[in-house]
Amino acid sequence: KTFADIPLAAPIQRALSERNYEIPSPIQAQSIPFLLEGRDLLGCAQTGTGKTAAFSLPILHALHTRPGKRRPKQARVLVLTPTRELATQVGKSLEAYGTHLDTRHALVFGGVGQRPQVQSMRKGTDVLVACPGRLLDLIEQGYVDLSAVEFFVLDEVDRMLDMGFLKDVNRIVSMLPSKRQSLFFSATLAPSIVELAHNILRDPETVTI
Ligand code: AMP
Repeated sequence: KTFADIPLAAPIQRALSERNYEIPSPIQAQSIPFLLEGRDLLGCAQTGTGKTAAFSLPILHALHTRPGKRRPKQARVLVLTPTRELATQVGKSLEAYGTHLDTRHALVFGGVGQRPQVQSMRKGTDVLVACPGRLLDLIEQGYVDLSAVEFFVLDEVDRMLDMGFLKDVNRIVSMLPSKRQSLFFSATLAPSIVELAHNILRDPETVTI
């Protein structure tokens, strides 16, 4: 099976062939069809397995095929990551796979000034890639509003919990619309992680690689 067998929009297929991606990795082959159907996903996969593309490709496809209004403060996609390094990597992947689309993303993480981040969202953004602490800061100050989120991705949940972000994650989840598609990725599925997953996901497809 190749990417050409998966019904992703032409501009995405073009970006993949330009990067010489031919064969979907196992996590991609197993998740993308369910995600394109709008299903929630509980993915058990390590970094380096292609999980970033596994969630980015179907989300970019959905944004492209169901274009919406770009409103200031309101992203349609929220990707939560535990670290700024991972947020930056996700941003680079979105850039690469979305090179022939007009999707915009913004990065939000602590340890640097918030002004450039707020500035980057001023004209509206489709995808917000954020670490929990700074995201909550910006929400409290009225710079971000999660009420238009259609796709929610929690990446590297095991690390997120190790870093003590459970309370922050739950607060963020409580601000999301209940009608949304949620994707949850973790390298391990300890009981506390499975419990969190079941609070966030609706009838998820589980993919373990
Ligand atoms: P990820 O886990 O999505 O960050 O991917 C790990 C690395 O593998 C990144 O450098 C990707 O560019 C690359 N990659 C992901 N999926 C594929 C694929 N299907 N074919 C070739 N390279 C890939």
